[in-house]
Amino acid sequence: MAEFELIEQHFTRLTRHTNLGIGDDAALISVTEDMELAISADMLVSGTHFFADADPYQLGWKSLAVNVSDMAAMGAVPKWVTLAIALPQQDDVWLSQFSQGFFACANTFNIDLIGGDTTKTQQKENLTISVQIMGEVPRGQAIKRSGAKVGDDIWVSGPLGKAAVGLQHLLGNLVIDSEAVTEHLAALHMPAPRVDLGIALRGIANSCLDISDGLLGDLQHILKASNVGAQIQLNTIPTSEFIVQHLDDITFQRYVLAGGDDYELCFTAATDKANQILAVSQQLNLRLSKIGKITHEKALEVLDARQQTITLDSLGYNHFNGH
Ligand code: ADP
Ligand code: MG
Repeated sequence: MAEFELIEQHFTRLTRHTNLGIGDDAALISVTEDMELAISADMLVSGTHFFADADPYQLGWKSLAVNVSDMAAMGAVPKWVTLAIALPQQDDVWLSQFSQGFFACANTFNIDLIGGDTTKTQQKENLTISVQIMGEVPRGQAIKRSGAKVGDDIWVSGPLGKAAVGLQHLLGNLVIDSEAVTEHLAALHMPAPRVDLGIALRGIANSCLDISDGLLGDLQHILKASNVGAQIQLNTIPTSEFIVQHLDDITFQRYVLAGGDDYELCFTAATDKANQILAVSQQLNLRLSKIGKITHEKALEVLDARQQTITLDSLGYNHFNGH
């Protein structure tokens, strides 16, 4: 099958809000007046971000979902996406499943695939998926990393650490029972980006980002951009039953504080916004937890249940120092 037919068969679908989609030298879109265009790109590389034999449907979903999550973190509505893919060889079954997963996510969030590029690589290990996403946010209302204020509460959505448990299970480092396997692998493979939450937080949150590399590592980005510090209460961080019940203290801390791939949102807001945030939580049926405070002192401190400072170095990560 020629490249043209491959694109036609697997990647060309009806578009919803696009003037000119796949098939010409460039796509054409109209950006709504008084909106800003939010643009972000994320690349997934075999061996680094997924296993070479990863399920193609789930890979299709995830390669778009991680990009959608960046729109969510800005309070933007995702609308358009391009897909550049480097494939080892033509494999119609693989491509068909990949595109079904990709479009399942695109349909869920009402996103048009408007273009891309398809190229060949020599080996399966070189499979690379590069997605660029574009969305809209009312002018001046995007929620940036740089807006955190001293005294803000720090909040996170959903449970943290589940995707990391799923990954460690796949790597053979962690034995978990079969019910927990399903739950934690779903978190790893099929993340649910929090678009509705991001939109609802416009005008409420002072700063926001999505958690892709682990809570503390990502929170550091807010602290640096906002020139502030934070104090976190470990026992207020939401996580899974399995993590609470089965992991020792250090392992618990690693998953919850430093586990990657969660794609939940971490945001800060003035304390008098708490009721509005709890109302958003109810309305979206989404757990939102207050986990700490933004501080004047420019350090990141995590306290355990006895209000003792946890030594982050002992977690064995160099993640925390910002990079
Ligand atoms: P060109 O030679 O002009 O770069 P291509 O043959 O690469 O054009 O692509 C033809 C059309 O198909 C373009 O509209 C391009 O955006 C689109 N396209 C190519 N690969 C993909 C893909 N993997 N997903 C979506 N659209 C694609
Ligand atoms: Mg091209």
